[in-house]
Amino acid sequence: MKILSWALFSIVVAHAQALNHFSVSPKTMNAFVQKCVSVPSNEEMKAEINQMLQERQQKPNPNWKERFQSLFGKTLPTTANLKEVQLDGLKMTNLNPYDLEVISRLTMHNDASRSLWKDEYPVEQTQVNGAVKIQRKCLTSTCQSRKLEKPFDLTSFNSAPNCSDAGCAAQKIFGKEKGTKILWAYLKYGTNLSPYSDVNADSKGFDDGTLKAILAATAAVPEHLHAAAVRDSGFYRFKKGMTLAMYGDGGSTIANAAGAVFDSIDEFSFSEKVYIFTHELGHRAAYQDNDDLDDSEEWHKATGWKVRSDKSTSNKSQKGWVSGYSKTNPREDFAEVYSLYRFDPRRLKKISPERYQFMKEKVFRGIEYDQDLCKGTGELTPAPESEPTSTTTSTTTTTLRAPPAAPTNSPSPRPWRGAR
Ligand SMILES: [Zn+2]
Repeated sequence: MKILSWALFSIVVAHAQALNHFSVSPKTMNAFVQKCVSVPSNEEMKAEINQMLQERQQKPNPNWKERFQSLFGKTLPTTANLKEVQLDGLKMTNLNPYDLEVISRLTMHNDASRSLWKDEYPVEQTQVNGAVKIQRKCLTSTCQSRKLEKPFDLTSFNSAPNCSDAGCAAQKIFGKEKGTKILWAYLKYGTNLSPYSDVNADSKGFDDGTLKAILAATAAVPEHLHAAAVRDSGFYRFKKGMTLAMYGDGGSTIANAAGAVFDSIDEFSFSEKVYIFTHELGHRAAYQDNDDLDDSEEWHKATGWKVRSDKSTSNKSQKGWVSGYSKTNPREDFAEVYSLYRFDPRRLKKISPERYQFMKEKVFRGIEYDQDLCKGTGELTPAPESEPTSTTTSTTTTTLRAPPAAPTNSPSPRPWRGAR
């Protein structure tokens, strides 16, 4: 089996390489899951959803209005409830604008829900007798090149009674249990796990176990890394039976850091999945203070990686490796070490004190898990609404997504987060 991650920002793609084992042993991962993972029940999530939605209304983020208007223009009320609204055909009544925003972000592509929305997905909006009709559309060549030319359509989720809050709408759109989890994850962490979050997503989305594994991995990320690793991104189940051409035979690729999760995920146990998602979140966590820590001189120095003039890398070290896969390149080394630091810190300390120290100082800001593996899990406060400006810095750096193996789609340039 192989694990292949797509380094964020860069178009450098790791070479698939046989994965001897993860950096964390199955036994240790199992123990972590037994001891530290407790995904709330759907009833608990529902209660928390109501609370989080209320808090949003009572204490709006200073940027909220701007964020809302970037989606819907300036004519919709931002404080009063909407008597009747149709979002791409889905009718909702007496809906407050906060709930409308949340539902609209969970029903469009991730890159659209960030900075590109305004220019590329203009809304057609009509108001008749207090009823607002919103139809999102792709009108520019950029989004059309990403095969998003069809208007969004949510009419099939209409069933009586009409929804008047995001919880109800999420259940109708994604299913009862899944909808609750997807909405909870978005409100709690700012992560988008919707099956509509990418043009290549499978419309059925994740199974329950995989969703839970993502939530468990997300809860294990320390809060200061959420802005880098979790918020405004997410994961999606790639179309079944398909993969990216760049992965060659591709059949054994599990997931990438841009959020795509492929068929082979199904071969893994729950605790292995928690490991896999942590590995991908580790790639994202490498991006801090506008810098890629996993491509920094300091990381190379701590780990023995040498970068040649053609940017290729090599490392002749005989020790310090945390897994076979970590030898692939400095970025994979980073993600594997990140995971080991989180789940088996004592082992990392023994194998590579330099890597441990780097993780402790540069990535985890002094937080250590050697005394308490469960530290921080489940203690997070709801995600602040992200700043609309934080994702608009640059769309010039793109990661090329190669066409799926079959049927062939044209490559879609996918702008990733800001300057990454
Ligand atoms: Zn990776």
